[in-house]
Amino acid sequence: IIENLSDLSKLAVLGHGNGGTVYKVHHQRSSSIYALKVLRFNNQNNNAAAPMMREAEILKRVDSQFIVKCHAVFHTISGGGELCFVMEHMEGGSLYEALRAHERLSEDVISRVAQCVLKGLQYLHGTKIVHGDIKPSNLLINAKGEIKIADFGVSWIVGSGNVECCMGTCAYMSPERVDPERWDGDDNADGFAGDVWSVGVVVLECLVGHYPLIRMGEKPDWAALIWGICFGERLEIPESASPEFRSFVRRCLEKDWRKRGSVEELLQHPFVNNRSFTTSFASATSNNHGLLDFAFHA
Ligand code: ATP
Ligand code: MG
Repeated sequence: IIENLSDLSKLAVLGHGNGGTVYKVHHQRSSSIYALKVLRFNNQNNNAAAPMMREAEILKRVDSQFIVKCHAVFHTISGGGELCFVMEHMEGGSLYEALRAHERLSEDVISRVAQCVLKGLQYLHGTKIVHGDIKPSNLLINAKGEIKIADFGVSWIVGSGNVECCMGTCAYMSPERVDPERWDGDDNADGFAGDVWSVGVVVLECLVGHYPLIRMGEKPDWAALIWGICFGERLEIPESASPEFRSFVRRCLEKDWRKRGSVEELLQHPFVNNRSFTTSFASATSNNHGLLDFAFHA
């Protein structure tokens, strides 16, 4: 549908990341709105190209209602080289922004968020892709209140090597990611369990309203963070949380990745599978001053 990059005109900046900038763009011919992620090749560092090409390869491969759709990838030579991804526009922004706006979410909304993310991971893991960077700013919301996984900047395909060049956001990384000795030499270690850990951190953050592995007011010291992830006591889950919520978070935040819940197990967990929802995610959220409201106010 989109044949030329020049058919797109930039309307606004949606976000900045490590590698580049995401713009809201207008496609004249179809008069539709898209998101355009532009990654610049850094001339000084030839290694920077490899992760970008991998992101492009993965985006072309994936096709799921739980993953932000990429419609086209363009490679340009302007400004030392750019890779441009034309993606579906997620009108509600990211879960990061939703949390900043609402501070915390209800368990019903969180349960829906968890279910969507787990279904996205079920699809990815089934295609041998480890996302590697599940965190609120990489979970995007559309006008229907649907939540989808985005940003494959540090993802990898199991069995393709090159895992060591992938960096993610430390704060959401599992013990075996921040301390690779925990899984080195284990043939069964594929990295899927690391995505489940990140879901646990995100889910707990949604309930408490701030990053949960460091106490409020504590200085976010890098070494303390890593130590906390690997050896810290089991998290403080608010007393008001339901037993299902507690049990779900514990299965995700099991430090030993071999004992951690799998995506399949967690999709069957009563916290996501057994709750009496008001029909759809959209109505669940709109009754709950939740994500959908946010989508329309954004
Ligand atoms: P980081 O390195 O910080 O994780 P990144 O460079 O990999 O970021 P993305 O995570 O893909 O880039 O996007 C950065 C931000 O841009 C997102 O957090 C989100 O706020 C916004 N954004 C990205 N894609 C879209 C989209 N399809 N629709 C709406 N907003 C988007
Ligand atoms: Mg990101």
